[in-house]
Amino acid sequence: MSIEIEAAVLVETNTPLELQTLTHEPLTSGQVLVEIAYSGVCGSQLLEIKGLRGPDRFLPHLLGHEGSGIVAEIGPDVTKVKPGDHVVVTWIAGEGINSGGTRYTASDSQIVNAGPVATFSNRAVVSENRLLPIDTRFSLRQAALLGCCLPTGAGTVLNLANIDAGDSVAIIGVGGVGLSAVLGAKMAGAGVIVAVDRNAANLELAMALGATHSLNSAEVDAIRASNEIVSGGRFDATVEASGRTELMEMAISLTRDEGICVIAGNPSAGSRIAVDPFELIKGKRIVGSWGGGTVPDRDIPKYVKAQLVGEIDFSPLIGSEYDLDRINDAIAELESGTAGRVLLRTNPSISDSGSTS
Ligand SMILES: [Zn+2]
Repeated sequence: MSIEIEAAVLVETNTPLELQTLTHEPLTSGQVLVEIAYSGVCGSQLLEIKGLRGPDRFLPHLLGHEGSGIVAEIGPDVTKVKPGDHVVVTWIAGEGINSGGTRYTASDSQIVNAGPVATFSNRAVVSENRLLPIDTRFSLRQAALLGCCLPTGAGTVLNLANIDAGDSVAIIGVGGVGLSAVLGAKMAGAGVIVAVDRNAANLELAMALGATHSLNSAEVDAIRASNEIVSGGRFDATVEASGRTELMEMAISLTRDEGICVIAGNPSAGSRIAVDPFELIKGKRIVGSWGGGTVPDRDIPKYVKAQLVGEIDFSPLIGSEYDLDRINDAIAELESGTAGRVLLRTNPSISDSGSTS
């Protein structure tokens, strides 16, 4: 029997998403049908919608790469999950079959493309290796953040920044990913965690999540102000999560000799940054971040456990919540630079705890 879903479709770049009813052929090897409960909306979808990732040869297509839900049906050869399992849906490839992208059909018979994961829909066909089963006691609302925001941010510190207990870390840009980096720094036992942003609400959230200092870059010169926080004004590690090139350059300057600067923000395609080669000659390392170096099957259970035992609390990361039919309002709010992660409630029949009505 064919599968029917309600999904937000990007028909053309720079136009509002369109809600459409789509059908999908029966599942093939490695494919899993997930009832998507919640989806995060992240900056990389904004880049896709605005066509800032270069020409988009997949239009029309589905969007969304972090979510949570309940497995409805599994295709042939799937062993990692079974119907009824609660899952994190993530763009970061983990264990299991990679069934690749897929195709849906619109009511006018047009083909609508989707990658191995899509979450701006009430249900989605997802590749087995983009799913991670989680404890059914875990909040599905919080679990949506485990698909991108939390591992991408916390991983920059835990997997890439080589932090020892007591070290100093500066996090430049504390939107969803930067705030998650604050949590990662807390989990790593950093002694000084400085959040830098020009949005006061973001800075307040960073302090609530464990930052020890906040610097409002709209009001103070962050490089000068850092002199009063750490000796020499330079940090053992810095994480840049704003995606703004001038802040990437600032993050590099704020890193001490032989320290590590992790670049995690997403600028527009074709952007350039300038680096004084002596920054590198003195042993400073600039490290790129692909999903925070996350290994989903190793790292996501670690975050679930840290949250369940109260070691961290990432619920303050969740910002406004919208139903799927208000997807364009959710995107507009993200674009306005709101504090916290904007969530979509993609399937109102599923409660936070996973019970269905
Ligand atoms: Zn993302």
